[in-house]
Amino acid sequence: MRRFFSNFVIFLVALLFVLGVVSPSVAAKETKRVLILYSEEKWPSVHELTEQGLRAVFRESSSFDIQLYVEYLDAGRFHSPGHMSTVADYLRRKYDGTEINAIIPIYPYAADFLVANSPTLFPGVPIIASGVTRSQAEKLEHSPARRFMTGIILGDNIAGVMAAALRMRPATKHVALVAGTAPNDAYSEQVFRQGLRPYAGTLELIDLTKLSMEETLSRVRSLPPDTIVLYTSIFRDGTGKSFVPREALSLIARAANAPVFSLYDAFMGYGIVGGRLASIEHNGREAATLALRILSGESPGAIPFGGEQAYVNLYDWRELKRWGIPETAVPAGGVILYRQHSLWEDHRSGILGALFLVIFEGLLILGLVINLRRRRKAERSLRESKVRITLAASAADLSLWEWDIVRDDIWTTEKGRERAGVDPSERIDFARYLQTLHPDDRESTQRAVRHALEVGGEFIAEYRVMAPDGVARWVAARGQLERDAHSKPLRMRGVSVDVTERKRSEESARNAQEMMAAVFNSVPGLLYLYTEDGRLIQWNRQHEEMTGYTSEELLGFRIQEWFDEKNWAQASEVFAKIFSEGYGETEITLKRKNGEGLPLFATGSRVMIDGKPHMVGIAIDISLRKKAEQELTQQRNQLSHLSRVATLNTLSSSLAHELNQPLGAILRNAEAAEMFLQAPSPDLEEVRAILSDIRKDDQRAGEVIDRMRSQLKGHEVELKLLDLNLLTGEILKLVRPEADSRKISLALKTGSSHPAVRGDRVQLAQVLLNLLLNAMDAVNDSAPDGRRVIVSVQTAGPQVEVAVSDTGRGIPEDNLARVFDPFFTTKPDGLGMGLAISHEIIEAHGGRLWAKNNEGGGATFTITLPAALGGDTK
Ligand code: ADP
Repeated sequence: MRRFFSNFVIFLVALLFVLGVVSPSVAAKETKRVLILYSEEKWPSVHELTEQGLRAVFRESSSFDIQLYVEYLDAGRFHSPGHMSTVADYLRRKYDGTEINAIIPIYPYAADFLVANSPTLFPGVPIIASGVTRSQAEKLEHSPARRFMTGIILGDNIAGVMAAALRMRPATKHVALVAGTAPNDAYSEQVFRQGLRPYAGTLELIDLTKLSMEETLSRVRSLPPDTIVLYTSIFRDGTGKSFVPREALSLIARAANAPVFSLYDAFMGYGIVGGRLASIEHNGREAATLALRILSGESPGAIPFGGEQAYVNLYDWRELKRWGIPETAVPAGGVILYRQHSLWEDHRSGILGALFLVIFEGLLILGLVINLRRRRKAERSLRESKVRITLAASAADLSLWEWDIVRDDIWTTEKGRERAGVDPSERIDFARYLQTLHPDDRESTQRAVRHALEVGGEFIAEYRVMAPDGVARWVAARGQLERDAHSKPLRMRGVSVDVTERKRSEESARNAQEMMAAVFNSVPGLLYLYTEDGRLIQWNRQHEEMTGYTSEELLGFRIQEWFDEKNWAQASEVFAKIFSEGYGETEITLKRKNGEGLPLFATGSRVMIDGKPHMVGIAIDISLRKKAEQELTQQRNQLSHLSRVATLNTLSSSLAHELNQPLGAILRNAEAAEMFLQAPSPDLEEVRAILSDIRKDDQRAGEVIDRMRSQLKGHEVELKLLDLNLLTGEILKLVRPEADSRKISLALKTGSSHPAVRGDRVQLAQVLLNLLLNAMDAVNDSAPDGRRVIVSVQTAGPQVEVAVSDTGRGIPEDNLARVFDPFFTTKPDGLGMGLAISHEIIEAHGGRLWAKNNEGGGATFTITLPAALGGDTK
């Protein structure tokens, strides 16, 4: 019984133990405060592994209740000496009054930070450094802090990693080393550089440390063949940008054209191939184990740096595949992680069998369920799509409606009711619907509905809906009729949309267009718009009327088709100028459809339309002006002929006198010859001489008549190269008899030769004749010895100048400006046209004619005419 009882007690205690009701050590546990000081910011991935290790060990401690305090130095981003002393100060104040029993700095930087501040920050508190480098440990070995400090070295197994890497990539020739610039990056880089020393002779090192992330990525993209990448860590890149090392690794591994290796298991799954990797978690475990030993009383100074150096042998299946590394190359004991499709590969036949059964069964069940499902799904999707459509409709400002024709009931989405101001509770039938429309639109809408019901099936209408406030909105509606099996109208469904804005803009566009057209058509000439390649694309009504082409014919009309060859030569020049300089104008004749010419003054400006240059322009009909000009020329010619007749009339008496002379001489000679011939032996020599004189006189008389005739004939203008010397000489000959009879001395002053001028001989002769006769008139009243007219011809620059100067009475100042006016005369029988015509003739020749009074009395009329280019008459 006692035995049973004791057994029962043992059982009971054991049960309570198992249930956790009784815990013998709970009461005995001593509280210890441990500070974990991370080098970096709160960096979940790797810190988690470390902390997992730490916490797992602390949790299991039977002697201590460990309270953890956690601090982050964030050295990847902030590590200036000033900042760090502030942080030390902060920690000092923060933990003032809190007893810390042990500190575990994680990674090299935190350890160095503590040592540097140890005299004042947590003085004498034991430090168990986790994850220090070997060389750092060697240094610490000799530091005064060593008394209260020990630590666990983390992963300097470069040889192990390289062995695995070279086994997998035997042809490797280059090692690209990637590292960042944060303090801990530098510690790791040092570990790698040291570890790589033995390979210096066989492998070439490509240094990709301390670069910007961009550059690192671009470099790893184009590494030479047979390279492996060694990744240390990047907390911070060369430009100072912060990174989470795992993520930096991911970026690099993804970009790299070569496999990536590293030292720590924390990087598994982020792009490294694998190998013998230092276990971060184990490092944390070891540190925690050490901490417990020290908390139990062991002296840190007596425990050597080092630890077990735990490694795991891990490989990433995906990376092996990526780099074509056969699994046989994985060293013995290696564990391949992240294998994909492995289930299939391992149990292919089992899976197939199971799959067959599942599918078979599935099909059966499916067959049963499918109908039900389908219906439900259809219902659901109908519901959903209704909701979706309604939403979309209201977003697009549409309203949906449905007219149950049998019950004459209209359902519409809110928008529709809103528009017409119909209360949601009010029933809408067709009559009510019509009521909401503008009275003017009801009839046409009704017609559209009737049409849909009777023939088309489709209802299309635009009408105004009257809102309750009396404002009309334009609505476009469209609906589709549904009929029942007997083809009786069942319902009509449709949408309507507010088109007020569209209507408004259409209207204003129409107004603008009408206005434009009105403006266009009001232009009293041709208006046109051409593309740069000379196609007509816009014109006004006058264009059609004046050219005789219809608007169909004008669209796209090629500009050169308006012109004959000569006119196009001119027009194309102006057209090109308009596009190069922006504006051009010309007088030109285009061909109407009926072949008649249409003389125009045409302008064009370059305008940009849709980013392309066009020519817009206007042309006015100048046929009337041309006709007037023609008539004017004709009149002028007639007048000038008349004036010549008048002029010659003046000369007629003296000319008759001049003619009388040779004629008289001829008569006298003829009489003399007769006398000689009546002699018994006539002196034939004498008779011959007389006959020769008669011929000469006859010639002289002939010349006088010729000169007169050439002045008298009405003629066509003819431009020729002329020598003004010769012309002046001839005219002087014509007037000399008159001058002689009036006792006027006539002199010509000229050089031997002058450049030729281009002109009409008869017209220029007429001008000279006018000036000479006027001059002779002017000197008429002068004293007999003071009657002089001097004609001078000279070259003046590019011009030839003829001046007719007299010693007459001169021109009163008041008349100087008027003497060239038509019909201005001071002579009792004067016509007043001589100078007016002369002036016009000279201007038409591109020259000038002007008058001035001479200093010593009398007037001078001067003509200048441009010398003809290259035309010297001598
Ligand atoms: P008309 O000789 O028939 O009068 P013109 O046109 O030739 O017509 O001359 C107009 C007027 O100019 C003359 O009436 C005269 O008053 C004036 N005039 C022309 N030439 C001279 C001149 N050399 N000296 C003075 N007055 C002149």
